[in-house]
Amino acid sequence: MLVSRLSVLVPAGIVALLLWGCSQTPQFQAQHEPWREQEERACLVSGQVREKPWLMSRAALGGPSACGALKPFEMLAVSDGRVQMKPAALVRCNMVPAVERWVRGVVEPEAFRHYRVPIAEIEVAGSYACRPRNNQAGGKLSEHGHANAIDISSFILADGRVITVKQGWNGDSRDRSFLRALHAGACREFTTILGPNADAFHHDHFHFDLARHGRSGNEVVCR
Ligand SMILES: [Zn+2]
Repeated sequence: MLVSRLSVLVPAGIVALLLWGCSQTPQFQAQHEPWREQEERACLVSGQVREKPWLMSRAALGGPSACGALKPFEMLAVSDGRVQMKPAALVRCNMVPAVERWVRGVVEPEAFRHYRVPIAEIEVAGSYACRPRNNQAGGKLSEHGHANAIDISSFILADGRVITVKQGWNGDSRDRSFLRALHAGACREFTTILGPNADAFHHDHFHFDLARHGRSGNEVVCR
């Protein structure tokens, strides 16, 4: 507990040193960022996210230190329950409409345009996790730690066809075109969009989050 609190207050080098050999404590740097709670509260009171059988609110996530969310949502499906999310994603309020718009506005139409088959399922490779970015000890707390991120590894069509980011990104022309269209479309809904072209950590999945970038906080990192 003491160590978790220290991780908020002291620079990275010191944190790494303090935690050396202490494997059960997440090693990351976190800052106090009041916008996160303000943004989440605004989303919760706006009424734009309503519970449904496939979208359920969960108890507050919290700790250690800066991780967590006030009232996260478990997304079992999107788009009126038509598209399953497996396993269910646990994300903060603001992520729900962004994922919903991406699936409805990009994934569903692009699946039909490319394969003439509806999309049935999206495989979730990660959502809430209190850990440093890319699991690199001593790094900045990942947006996953704020339940503000989702990782997606593959797409399953209604006919059973599976398109994975890992194989499809450099696969046949149709899979390449489909996955690039999904990635490009995500750059209109999220603020961080990372795919296989970003770095080796993302060779097998898309990472989407709603972090604030740049001075204005409105910049988008799409790569
Ligand atoms: Zn991620």
